[in-house]
Amino acid sequence: MTIPIARTVAELRTTVAAWRKNGLKVAVVPTMGALHEGHLSLVRAALAKADRIIVTLFVNPKQFNNAADLAAYPRTEHDDAAKLAPLGAHLLYAPNAADMYPEGFATTVSVSRVSDGLCGAFRPGHFDGVATVVAKLFLQTRADLAFFGVKDFQQLHVVRRLVRDLDIPIEIVACPTVREADGLAMSSRNVRLSAEQRLAAPKLPEVLSTSAERLSAGAPAELVLAEARQAILAAGYEEVEYLELRADQDLSPLSAADRPARLIVAAWLGGTRLIDNVEVLPRQRKGEVLAAANAA
Ligand code: AMP
Repeated sequence: MTIPIARTVAELRTTVAAWRKNGLKVAVVPTMGALHEGHLSLVRAALAKADRIIVTLFVNPKQFNNAADLAAYPRTEHDDAAKLAPLGAHLLYAPNAADMYPEGFATTVSVSRVSDGLCGAFRPGHFDGVATVVAKLFLQTRADLAFFGVKDFQQLHVVRRLVRDLDIPIEIVACPTVREADGLAMSSRNVRLSAEQRLAAPKLPEVLSTSAERLSAGAPAELVLAEARQAILAAGYEEVEYLELRADQDLSPLSAADRPARLIVAAWLGGTRLIDNVEVLPRQRKGEVLAAANAA
């Protein structure tokens, strides 16, 4: 069982044009490859909502602010194709950097505000690279739907803003974070962790979820976040780049969980940067849930 691979926009367009002529609904799942269950969950979600699924595989140089990170990024196209074929994805689009950004390429798509702070503060130019490549992929594929993981929460906000602001006719579908059995969010970067680091890594999601519960119960955010930072460092992480409570709706900074929120983190473990986030139920809503449970 194999999956067809398109290398150029021309090949991609020929295939998609035939699908569209037949009235088929097309979905795209953008990835940088080194596929794991998190990526495959997006493909499954896409299969449930569309007739034809394009998985894109492109390690986008423009979104890497660190040359060493780009060089070390895993590239496993053969294995990726082998994982996608049995799922029933229809096309793998794996363009070359020289075709995506030919000599003379001079356009940058930049989404402000939602890309401020968090990863935007620590990875200069990252979200410009993301917005530029995502805009290209949407225009190249002309997909009706696009699937993204909540794992990259700020990226999801950037993509939603991009689509709204540029009137791109595509529906963005957000999919939940897929985790390992011990709670660590799946990531293509996890393979870089040593055995010892891999054992320490799940402390990050563990701290996030206990902190989220405390915030929902009304504990002061400043205290909870300070203690969470300490706990992450005590687990062996060398740096907590950021740990913030942000509004679910628009990513605005919050000092209390007074509305649906996210606790969002980036931390370094043995030279590997890991990101994660969890939902924080708003205080009064949790109270309402408890009141309802007590009344029942
Ligand atoms: P990446 O290849 O890391 O650029 O990710 C491609 C897509 O997969 C993005 O929409 C990510 O948010 C999503 N993704 C990555 N890891 C996970 C995960 N553990 N669970 C769900 N989606 C994920």
